Amino acid sequence: MFDSVKGKTVIVTGGSKGIGKGIARTFANHGANVAIVARNLAAAEACAVELNRGNGKVYALCGDVTDRGSMEAVAKQVNETFGSIDVLCANAGIFPSVTLEQMTTEDWDTVMNTNAKGTLHAVQACIPYLKQATYGRIVITSSITGPVTGYAGWSHYAASKAAQLGFMRTAALELAGDNITVNAVLPGNVLTEGLEGLGDDYLQEMASAIPMQKLGSVEDIGYAALFLASKEAGFITGQTIIVDGGQILPEN
Ligand code: NAP
Repeated sequence: MFDSVKGKTVIVTGGSKGIGKGIARTFANHGANVAIVARNLAAAEACAVELNRGNGKVYALCGDVTDRGSMEAVAKQVNETFGSIDVLCANAGIFPSVTLEQMTTEDWDTVMNTNAKGTLHAVQACIPYLKQATYGRIVITSSITGPVTGYAGWSHYAASKAAQLGFMRTAALELAGDNITVNAVLPGNVLTEGLEGLGDDYLQEMASAIPMQKLGSVEDIGYAALFLASKEAGFITGQTIIVDGGQILPEN
């Protein structure tokens, strides 16, 4: 099934670390050409060197999803480099924590600008190229936080992740006639580099809240994205896949 992404061009925003890196690695290992986009070019380049040990070609670009012009330049450059854009994984996101009572307008805007508006910019920049592709796929990284659950300190983040899903459903409708699907993956707690420094006790406590008793891996999210980007998922649009080891299932 996953052979269908071989030779396809995939953009992964926020592909230099964490879940985005896992998505990029999964696509590269299945023969896709992957452009990873992040603000820190040196980190993205180091990531590309590591991922180039897979079967695909990985290419690092500097881009900021909060900047419309930056995303347009990224899409143009990727199209010039690889000759197409077939898949966009709109994954870049931030999650600073601040309680509702202390939250400033700037705190709110910073998170919404990256997570919600950044998704808009990435999608809009890629639409002209996705329309030209034999099939177009957009996979958005949302979260269980917001669409399904709440988490103290993250009301702005939760709002941004729910906003992505409202956006996704209407984008899916608008782009269906162009054979472009738009879907979202909703990760639960995933073990990224950022969490590794928190120590075994903390990670064990997080894992114990998950029925499968473990955190997700970044490749768990990568495989869900890979499925939604496959040829075989071509009739699925406007939908979500929760990847959380059963975290949202318990009633108490
Ligand atoms: P991460 O490890 O902090 O990585 C974030 C990535 O996004 C980095 O590559 C970062 O690179 C990039 N980025 C941040 N702001 C950007 C901007 N303005 N423009 C372009 N790139 C930007 O984060 P993560 O934990 O992997 O999270 C990735 C996505 O998964 C987010 O959308 C998050 O909401 C979602 N998610 C994560 C979890 C989890 O457990 N980790 C759970 C649910 C959902 P630069 O800093 O160099 O730009």
